Amino acid sequence: MQINIIGAGIGGLTTAIALHRKGFKIKVFDAAPALRPLGAGIVMASNAMQVFRRLGCAEAVYAQGNELSAMHITDHRRRSLQCIDIRWVKSRFGEPSVSIHRGALQQVLLEYLPEGVVFTGKRLKNLTQDASGVSAFFEDGSSDRSDLLIGADGLRSATRHSIFGTQALRYSTHTCWRGMLDLQLDEPELVYECWGTEGGMRVALVQVSPGKVYFYYTEKQNAGFQAPGGDHCAYLKQRLRAFPALYAEAIGSAANKDIFHDDLYDLTRLARWHQGRVVLLGDAAHATTPNLGQGACQAVEDAWFLAEHLAAQTGEAPEQIFSQYEKSRRAKTDYVVNTSYRIGLLSNLGGPLGYRLRNALLKSTPESINRKQVSRVFKMF
Ligand SMILES: Cc1cc2nc3c(=O)[nH]c(=O)nc-3n(C[C@H](O)[C@H](O)[C@H](O)COP(=O)(O)OP(=O)(O)OC[C@H]3O[C@@H](n4cnc5c(N)ncnc54)[C@H](O)[C@@H]3O)c2cc1C
Repeated sequence: MQINIIGAGIGGLTTAIALHRKGFKIKVFDAAPALRPLGAGIVMASNAMQVFRRLGCAEAVYAQGNELSAMHITDHRRRSLQCIDIRWVKSRFGEPSVSIHRGALQQVLLEYLPEGVVFTGKRLKNLTQDASGVSAFFEDGSSDRSDLLIGADGLRSATRHSIFGTQALRYSTHTCWRGMLDLQLDEPELVYECWGTEGGMRVALVQVSPGKVYFYYTEKQNAGFQAPGGDHCAYLKQRLRAFPALYAEAIGSAANKDIFHDDLYDLTRLARWHQGRVVLLGDAAHATTPNLGQGACQAVEDAWFLAEHLAAQTGEAPEQIFSQYEKSRRAKTDYVVNTSYRIGLLSNLGGPLGYRLRNALLKSTPESINRKQVSRVFKMF
């Protein structure tokens, strides 16, 4: 069976590896002119690492990334309000969480695929399907036909648009700046996400490899907000004065050209993830806000389960296989999307009373409840 995948992001590449290991013929098409190590950092949490372990690529991810031991939410002075103890997670689920440069992760995943299956410069325009297969049409005028097609083409998926038309995105109320810094933290195994006194203000520095740190900063803004004069660096320097000096000093040293700025959206819940011979996964199916750090991890989980369902039931109609895959994933992705959105709203509590109330709420959550929530997300097998 020939399966085409649209999108060579974390979801598409992991799906390609999982299907290749099961003996399917695969091709991956990506709009980017080349897969170059661009972008900032990401945390691949224990659930994704458990999948990578089964796919045989966990060690390569550890080799390129940075194993974490704890992730704290703190107040604006970096005093811990809540903590995920990653050493406990590792002892419970077998794998810790790892921070890594996105480009490095993409290169690791590519190494687990045979030569000649990933095609770049192929932006999907639309697709048609009939009883015997799916034809994908690309903007460069070429096309390709397969038995099945998987849309792993992200938040603004052209695959999704082809089968379901336009679907609404939901603005998170947050805008976000990200980038990479040449920096070595004193405690590279710890992540402190500092929540400010104004609504939605959050900043973190995350070591992704020796001498390389990923930063992000969010705040509550209307969609479309721009730093005055387009000077991200000056704006961030000024806003980060609300936190310990390290943040403004470190992030203020970044060049404007190396700072990515995006508004954050999730996807309103789709009625279904598949139609005929076409199925969606990752952000294309259930994009979430990043407040739980789970978007890519959920794409990795999708990849695993989709490959398992396809391999187990090759005789069944695609619709049936895809509907079982969707059924196996819905409860968890709904939980992640909704919980993440709610955390974003909680972070918006600001002002002299609001932030104190919010911080007290975070601090008073019993460890047992935290662990229950963490287990619900990190439990994989
Ligand atoms: C600020 C921020 C921080 C985040 N932090 C984390 C984190 O720590 N941990 C985590 O798990 N998740 C995190 N996420 C979420 C994560 O980035 C996404 O969930 C993840 O990248 C989704 O993977 P994907 O493969 O589904 O889609 P994408 O990564 O978006 O990949 C889609 C691919 O499809 C290609 N493509 C798009 N359109 C077309 C087309 N028409 N034709 C062909 N190819 C196309 C693109 O070039 C891209 O390569 C974060 C997100 C944000 C915004």
